[in-house]
Amino acid sequence: GASMSSLLRNDLDVLPPLGTLARGEPIQVFAAPPGTPAKPQIARAMGIEMWDTAGNRYLDASSGPVACNLGYGNRRVLDALTSQAEAAAFANVSHFESKANRDFAERLAEAAGPGYERVFVVSGGSEANEAALKLARQIALSRGEASRWKVISRQPSYHGGTLGALAITGDPSAHAMFGPMLQEMPKVPAPVTYRIPAGLDEENWALKCAQDLEDRVVAEGPESVLAFIQEPVGGVSTGALVTPAAYMTRVREICDKYGILLIHDEVMSGGGRTGAFLSHDHWPDCRADLIVMAKGIGAGYLPLGLVLAPRDLVETVASGGGFLHGHTALGNPLSCAVGLAVLEETLERGLVERSAVLGAELKTRLWDMANRYPIIGDVRGKGLLMAVEFVADPATKRPFPIEAAVPAAVSRIAMQNGLILYTRGTNAGRDGDWVMVSPPLVTSDRELDEITDRLEKSLSQAEAEFSSLRKL
Ligand code: PMP
Repeated sequence: GASMSSLLRNDLDVLPPLGTLARGEPIQVFAAPPGTPAKPQIARAMGIEMWDTAGNRYLDASSGPVACNLGYGNRRVLDALTSQAEAAAFANVSHFESKANRDFAERLAEAAGPGYERVFVVSGGSEANEAALKLARQIALSRGEASRWKVISRQPSYHGGTLGALAITGDPSAHAMFGPMLQEMPKVPAPVTYRIPAGLDEENWALKCAQDLEDRVVAEGPESVLAFIQEPVGGVSTGALVTPAAYMTRVREICDKYGILLIHDEVMSGGGRTGAFLSHDHWPDCRADLIVMAKGIGAGYLPLGLVLAPRDLVETVASGGGFLHGHTALGNPLSCAVGLAVLEETLERGLVERSAVLGAELKTRLWDMANRYPIIGDVRGKGLLMAVEFVADPATKRPFPIEAAVPAAVSRIAMQNGLILYTRGTNAGRDGDWVMVSPPLVTSDRELDEITDRLEKSLSQAEAEFSSLRKL
């Protein structure tokens, strides 16, 4: 135990001395484009603060990739992790039950509320979406509906990087080079709220988008449609799009009318981040059949993802021989122990409510900045799942030229100011320019002030850097 706990203390002296890693040589990305700048090396992280090996301090205003809900170095999670590692780091689900898996699944289902009693634990969001798609297919088969296999999703959307999850991801640029390897699935427009066509209000626009879904179901042949998947509050693909209520209501009606399973991808929005444990709780009349979670439920401490399902749907499949899906890391006790500790910490410290309160304050401050910095066109989100969209001209909502790579530039400027903001890579599709401002749920009032100050400084620098592009 001694060496493990000293590693977990993240002491500077257990890290390789500077210079042992070739500077500037990409180690994570196999082939970074030439000229990719070397990244600072992480030395230590505690709470929402991070330090690199050169001693620079950063505030994490995006929870890494909107995952690290509890910040870093959380004592309860580290203790749960070490004690499970020491007790039994691993136990194959085909040989053993694990208390960690059972306790985590029970508490998670309880937190999700009535109607979701079964939890299938995997290692991340993409994997959980793959599992949900296969489970949906098996549900259809056990209902005698073998013709159903198409999964409709929105464009833009993000559901993961593995081939199955990529096929339902609404991002043509991510599909481009992998096309022949994908089973292309139907896409319908997401009800994007920032650029609503002239003559429509938000509700009419939302209803038109929902009608697009129904039309598509009919065009595909309802008997061929297995599922519809959506992010109730979007992630980086839409810049925290909050789905209009009228759309959510209609989607549930359409799915019921045609016998289609509704899947909610709560990978980024679940686990308390939006001020509700599941973001779909903000729309009580749109309950999903299957829910996919990852990111915040493991809070970055270990890879963890899951599918949440109603007991009766799982039993349907069980009677037909059970869910045909396996991974080495299925229900792995270490990730479950982390998941349970993260959940207990989230609930006992009232962090779901805290996310709602802090998110409302953050939104007020971001709109205040939008009024002073015309580079900001929109502020969107719920709770601490929040994004800021940049435009060349807020009056016309004209975007910056794609080559300007404004979100990447803002993120670079922020990092120079000791502030971490998450955005897409510069090669990602072009649906708009935004960065996520989604700090950990444990952020204190004082830390929020510091985030606001550093963000404001970064925005004023970005405004200056892009002023020539704004006056076109
Ligand atoms: N769905 C959504 C909504 C996501 O935001 C992500 C990750 N950005 C994924 C799925 C994929 O999750 P992972 O990266 O853990 O595979």
